[in-house]
Amino acid sequence: MKKSIKNYDLDDLKKEMMAIGEKPFRAEQIFKWLYQDNVTSFEEMTNLSLDLRRRLEENYILGLFKIVHKLESIDGTKKYLLDVQDEEHNMIEAVLMQYHHGYTICVSSQIGCKMGCKFCASTGIPFVRNLEVGEIIEQILTIQRDEKITISNIVFMGIGEPLDNFDHLMKAIAIINHPKGLHIGARHISISTSGIVPKIYELADKQIQCTLSISLHAASNSIRSSMMPINQTYPIETLMEACQYYIKKTNKRISFEYALAKDNNDNIEDAKALVNLLKGMLAHVNLIPINPIEKGIYTKSTNENIIKFRDYLNNHGIITTIRRELGTDINAACGQLRKQNMKE
Ligand code: SAH
Repeated sequence: MKKSIKNYDLDDLKKEMMAIGEKPFRAEQIFKWLYQDNVTSFEEMTNLSLDLRRRLEENYILGLFKIVHKLESIDGTKKYLLDVQDEEHNMIEAVLMQYHHGYTICVSSQIGCKMGCKFCASTGIPFVRNLEVGEIIEQILTIQRDEKITISNIVFMGIGEPLDNFDHLMKAIAIINHPKGLHIGARHISISTSGIVPKIYELADKQIQCTLSISLHAASNSIRSSMMPINQTYPIETLMEACQYYIKKTNKRISFEYALAKDNNDNIEDAKALVNLLKGMLAHVNLIPINPIEKGIYTKSTNENIIKFRDYLNNHGIITTIRRELGTDINAACGQLRKQNMKE
């Protein structure tokens, strides 16, 4: 099967070009057509010879997706169900959100997820495979084409565990960052992880300026393990050591995600434990009112509790915000749309 030309970062593509007897600068021209002009055929690459365009056509695909569903929320959030057009017609989700500072896209990193978090809609659907580099990028390109917009921020918070697809994630970020690629700065990219500790060290050593978000959700091992099986492999102490290392290496603030579930992790005792855990650390807490999933065991905390929890953290020196809920009317919580479609 032909490979997507979007699986190659610029260095790889230069090598590909040289291997077929072309000059490396052709790769830069192709890059511009792919990521800045967002073309949908090799034919449109008019500064390449007809012969080269024909050879590209013979050897590669553009890896375009088909939009299966597009749901629009009253708040402007748009959720896409995308067919990646592989042999199995696997589906992934991507979400477009509009903030005052521009457009943010939430992208998926895998087809399905292995992590098994108890509150997540992706749990219960079998893991299929990692997304290819080009498939990570194509989510951005598809939505830019569809909406005729330029996306300025990217969050790896869709389906899948980005650090479990580390090499593809790194190459995708190289394409996203590159001035001849999508040219979006690392500071505008967030990677969210359930806490794959060895990969956090690896990421720290890469010294890229992305924001790291840790899906923490509890400050005690017993509660966290009950919500997230990964905590049995990498308990909180081990995770925090990796976070300290990340902060030391990158000098960047870590964002801790904490989904509040009623009577599970939303009492003042829990807030106290969280303060003790994060005290003195270069950290920020992002509280998420948990999005209840079908047959799930968790329900949303009351607004009153959420505010109390936030105020307690803020009053004890931990910068805390409540994540604005977007797109709840269109099932924008991770994995929900794909799950619904698979049932149908
Ligand atoms: N695997 C990565 C990224 C995907 S999930 C991770 O775990 O971080 C993106 C974020 O959404 C994570 O913080 C995750 O914990 C959160 N999330 C998943 N299901 C949720 C739900 N039902 N309600 C609220 N947040 C949820």
